[in-house]
Amino acid sequence: MENQKTQFPKVIIIGGGFGGLQLAKKLKNSAVEILMLDRHNYHTFQPLLYQVATGSLDSDSIAFPLRKIFQNQKNFNFRVAEVKRINPDEQYVMTDIGNFEYDYLVLATGSETNFFGQKAIEHFSMPMKTIPEALNLRSLILQNFEDALNEKNPEKKKALMTFVVVGGGPTGVETAGALAELKNHVLIRDYPELDFHFMKIYLIEGTERVLEPFSKQASKKAKEFLQNMGVIVIEKALVTQYDGEKVIYNNTESIFTKGVIWSAGVKGALIEGLDKAPIVRGGRIKTNNYNLVEGYENVFAIGDLAYMETPDWPHGHPGVAQVAIQQGQQLANNLIRIINQEVPKAFDYFDKGSMATIGRNKAVVDLRFLKFQGFIAWLTWMFIHLLFLVGFKNKLITLINWIVTYFSHDRGSRVILHKFNRQTMTEDSIAK
Ligand SMILES: Cc1cc2nc3c(=O)[nH]c(=O)nc-3n(C[C@H](O)[C@H](O)[C@H](O)COP(=O)(O)OP(=O)(O)OC[C@H]3O[C@@H](n4cnc5c(N)ncnc54)[C@H](O)[C@@H]3O)c2cc1C
Repeated sequence: MENQKTQFPKVIIIGGGFGGLQLAKKLKNSAVEILMLDRHNYHTFQPLLYQVATGSLDSDSIAFPLRKIFQNQKNFNFRVAEVKRINPDEQYVMTDIGNFEYDYLVLATGSETNFFGQKAIEHFSMPMKTIPEALNLRSLILQNFEDALNEKNPEKKKALMTFVVVGGGPTGVETAGALAELKNHVLIRDYPELDFHFMKIYLIEGTERVLEPFSKQASKKAKEFLQNMGVIVIEKALVTQYDGEKVIYNNTESIFTKGVIWSAGVKGALIEGLDKAPIVRGGRIKTNNYNLVEGYENVFAIGDLAYMETPDWPHGHPGVAQVAIQQGQQLANNLIRIINQEVPKAFDYFDKGSMATIGRNKAVVDLRFLKFQGFIAWLTWMFIHLLFLVGFKNKLITLINWIVTYFSHDRGSRVILHKFNRQTMTEDSIAK
């Protein structure tokens, strides 16, 4: 085993996302030895991934080195490791760098893109869950325009300039809006030889309305904003095929495109080995109200991965950062209670509301007792995102970027660092 020797209970946290981060921070002065394992050495601020993909922000602005966050925390250790399997009987996890023992294990692995078993769609469309994926998408968008310049066949040229965003949740809406702004303010100027009447942006949503979990008022306004920006919004439509050339939706309708962005769903990022754990809808792990995984006594799950039914949330909590943050904080307190043989407290989610931005001066905010849209909503969205972004430097750089973008309409980060090659793509191919 690779762990350091210590007299304190060993807590392994798999995942340095929103939940894992808060849990480890909150355990700072506690008598436990923490080992965090993550396949990346940084925390990703996923809500702004779409801005990296569309050239508004550099990837560094939304990533923060995990070691730096915990520099002054004595009971914290970190390893970059891919966790492959859990052995709950012997209480250790198997990783690509060795095995690590635990007394308490916390699964905070979040979620991954759900292609609903559609292999061709998975192969040809672009997910956006990680920074490497967002950078791949940025490369694809820019490469499509470089290729369009050289394409003689008008149909193929159109396909290179057509983007289809599948899934009209907050990610899809924000991405479609950002693409429209990229078109209207940047690409038109960068590629004067191309006819931008050919450039089309589609947003396809399976349910009755975009931003389905939001209020009807927010959905209506978001759709209106998108349409005014030139996005073609198609609701009640299911994408069933994409072969790299043609998207088919509702089984008969088709769009020729070389750029499909898949934001239609996520599923829990499961790790093998927890055979007793009930896996429920969306690949999430069922826990009790203390985040303890059903069937186990010392294995917990928090955030996107966890499925917890409460009277207020009978079908589980939404997969949003606030749930992960609050569960991480609560579990820290509960772990200490459990170690001290006290009774843990049930988790009670405080829903602070939802928001999504569609573009410059255009956002929708749903708070518990107040719903508003437009400029004030957009300012609120920016303020909240800056507040939660990790690291003072990242906050400052992002704010400066947004101010410059606001006045210039420009998007500074549009270099093709690595040519995106779909055939050889792995999650980290961009960094190789
Ligand atoms: C594009 C996008 C936009 C979003 N926008 C918003 C928003 O505006 N507002 C909002 O509230 N929420 C938003 N979300 C959702 C929010 O980001 C998630 O709910 C939140 O990140 C969940 O936190 P978590 O701690 O459960 O997991 P994550 O933050 O996803 O962290 C999981 C961590 O586990 C690591 N990991 C996973 N598997 C392994 C393994 N096997 N071995 C080692 N490490 C592993 C990953 O590298 C990652 O660091 C968005 C998500 C995406 C993808």
